[in-house]
Amino acid sequence: MSVIESIYCPNCGHQAERSYGRDRHVVRVQCPTCDYLMVTCAFTARVIEAYAPGLYAHRL
Ligand SMILES: [Zn+2]
Repeated sequence: MSVIESIYCPNCGHQAERSYGRDRHVVRVQCPTCDYLMVTCAFTARVIEAYAPGLYAHRL
């Protein structure tokens, strides 16, 4: 069973969703608007998987 929260995308600012995996160990942030994806471990705060389209191009 997973919990889903509504948040704002850190990449584009639109509505995204944050879901927790088993034991709230893995936190997943996903934005349907810009395809932003961030999967982090809640215990170590380490990024397991990340994908942010336009983020780097934005800074260039
Ligand atoms: Zn987004």
